[in-house]
Amino acid sequence: MAAVEGPTPKYECLLFDLDDTLYPLGAGINLACRKNIQDYMRDHLQIEESQIAEMCLELYRDYGTTMAGLKALGYEFDNDEFHANVHGRLPYDNLRPDPVLRILLLSIPQRKILFTNSDKVHAEEVLRRLGLEDCFEGVICFETLNPPAAPSNVLRKSQENYVIFFDDSTRNIASGKAAGFHTVIVGRSELVPGADHALESIHNIREALPEIWDGHDDWLESDADAVLASADVETAVVA
Ligand SMILES: [Mg+2]
Repeated sequence: MAAVEGPTPKYECLLFDLDDTLYPLGAGINLACRKNIQDYMRDHLQIEESQIAEMCLELYRDYGTTMAGLKALGYEFDNDEFHANVHGRLPYDNLRPDPVLRILLLSIPQRKILFTNSDKVHAEEVLRRLGLEDCFEGVICFETLNPPAAPSNVLRKSQENYVIFFDDSTRNIASGKAAGFHTVIVGRSELVPGADHALESIHNIREALPEIWDGHDDWLESDADAVLASADVETAVVA
């Protein structure tokens, strides 16, 4: 796709969460992921089943992810094995190509970075299923955030610019705001603490944030109309 040229945009970089942001919560990936984590805790870490649900909530609240919390408590396990058990068995068939989101993302003139706590294999699989593999200039994932040697400077680079951050997690939105980002909560119609905008679906991005396309509207109109005009555009999810 040809590079889009025009006036200097208000935002220099757009940072997108992956899960439950680029596709809806209703896809069932989140629910299956939580169940897989709980199964892993029971079967691989021998944690008493009756304690697991509450423990997950506490670890997520205190450490950001259940995985980080388990490590902090001293549980030893292989990261790749954990990811293979948690993400490797997700119902990816529920995700379908999303041509509307693809055309929106490709029409955005700014740099787009994907941000996820999950591993690279999961990120690539979700992007492939949604048909969005070529929509991002970079992916920040578990391996990027937990490098075996020197830390990556990918996130630091994007923080230098004026970033707008999209996420379905109220916790992440609050953290993003504290880090100085312009923030968008996705999957809700009402604002949450720290959110500058609320989008019920990522598909509403153009209506809610038209300034992203300032000076680039012509390109989007013609291409998006062609996609939207097809009668049978499939949305991201089959329930
Ligand atoms: Mg998410």
